[in-house]
Amino acid sequence: MTKYKLEYIWLDGYTPTPNLRGKTQIKEFASFPTLEQLPLWGFDGSSTQQAEGHSSDCVLKPVAVFPDAARSNGALVMCEVMMPDGKTPHPSNKRATILDDADAWFGFEQEYFFYKDGRPLGFPADGYPAPQGPYYTGVGFKQVGDIARKMVEEHLDLCLAAGINHEGINAEVAKGQWEFQIFGKGSKTAADQMWIARYLLLRLSEKYGVDIEFHCKPLGDTDWNGSGMHCNFSTKYMRETGGKDYFEKLMEAFKHARADHIAVYGPDNHMRLTGKHETASIDTFSYGVADRGASIRVPHSFVNSGYKGYLEDRRPNSQGDPYQIASQVLKTIATVAAGSKVAA
Ligand code: ADP
Ligand code: MN
Ligand code: MN
Ligand code: MN
Repeated sequence: MTKYKLEYIWLDGYTPTPNLRGKTQIKEFASFPTLEQLPLWGFDGSSTQQAEGHSSDCVLKPVAVFPDAARSNGALVMCEVMMPDGKTPHPSNKRATILDDADAWFGFEQEYFFYKDGRPLGFPADGYPAPQGPYYTGVGFKQVGDIARKMVEEHLDLCLAAGINHEGINAEVAKGQWEFQIFGKGSKTAADQMWIARYLLLRLSEKYGVDIEFHCKPLGDTDWNGSGMHCNFSTKYMRETGGKDYFEKLMEAFKHARADHIAVYGPDNHMRLTGKHETASIDTFSYGVADRGASIRVPHSFVNSGYKGYLEDRRPNSQGDPYQIASQVLKTIATVAAGSKVAA
C-alpha cells in the first residue's frame, strides 16, 4: 500500500468568478486511485461564501482525477460541491448544469498575463516597454524576458504529466502575455482540464514569485491587448450533418441568446469587447468567415466542408468559468432542432 497525497480541488462561491480552493488528504491505495475509489469529503462552506456559519458543511464529490507530477504520490482531484446530502448540487456548482453529451467537443484558448510588482512581467517600473508588435510568438530576452518561458514550459510539463490534453502554447500580443490551448471530447472534459491547468499555473506562480493575472483587460483602455478564452465547439450533428440551413438557424439562436452568453463569458468584458484588438462589440452579435473581429469566427474549413465542423466563439474572456461557458453554449445549441430549416 502507498500513501497518496490527494489534493481535493473545488470552486468557491464568489461571484462573478469563482476562485480555486484546494486541500490535501492522505489515503492509502495499492496503486494510483481511480475516481470510484475516491471518497466524498467535506469543507467549511462559511469560509468560501458557500454556507452560513450555523450550518456550514459542504460536500466535495470527486469528478476527475489526475497525477500530480510536482508531488511524490500526488493526485489532483477535481470536485463538484454538493449539499450536505451529498446528492444535490450546491447552487455554486455550475458543472452540474452542463448537459451530458459525450460527443460535444470543446477547445479553450486561455490567455493570461504574468504579473510582478503590480505590472506585467517585463514592463518597466514607470511607463511602458516598446509598443506591442514583436511580442506575439516572439523569441529572445528583449521580447519575452528570462522567467516567463521557464514558467510556461514547466506548466506545460506539469499539465502533460497530469494527462491534460494541451494542444499548444504561444507568447501573446502584449508583453508578459501568454496562451495555452486545451481540447477535450465530452461536454465537461475540456472545462475540467482547464480548471486543473489554471490550478497548476497558480500553484507554480508561488514558486517563482510571479502572479497570474486572469483579468480580461488589466491595462485598461490602452493599446495593449486584453485576454480572452476563445471557445471552440462542435457537436456530433455539427461535425457530421451540419449544412447551411442548420448553421443559420444556430446563429439565429446565438443572436437571440446574446445576453445569456455575455452574462457568463467573464466579468468586465465590456472593457475588452470594444471592436478593437481583434474583438467584436459586446452589444451586437456577429459572425463571419475567418473574421477575427466577429463574435463567432467561422473557420474556412467549416464552409469548405459544407458548413460542417466547429465554430469559434471569440467572446469568452480569460476570467470566464469554462463550466458556465460550456453550459450556455450547449443550452443554446439545444434550442435548435437538428435538421430543421430556417423559416423563409
Ligand atoms: P486560433 O488562435 O487561430 O483561434 P488555436 O489553434 O489557438 O487557433 O485554437 C483553435 C482550437 O480549436 C484548438 O485548440 C482546438 O482545440 C479547437 N478545435 C479544433 N477542432 C475542433 C472541433 N472539431 N471541435 C471543437 N474544438 C475544436
Ligand atoms: Mn489561439
Ligand atoms: Mn490568442
Ligand atoms: Mn482563437
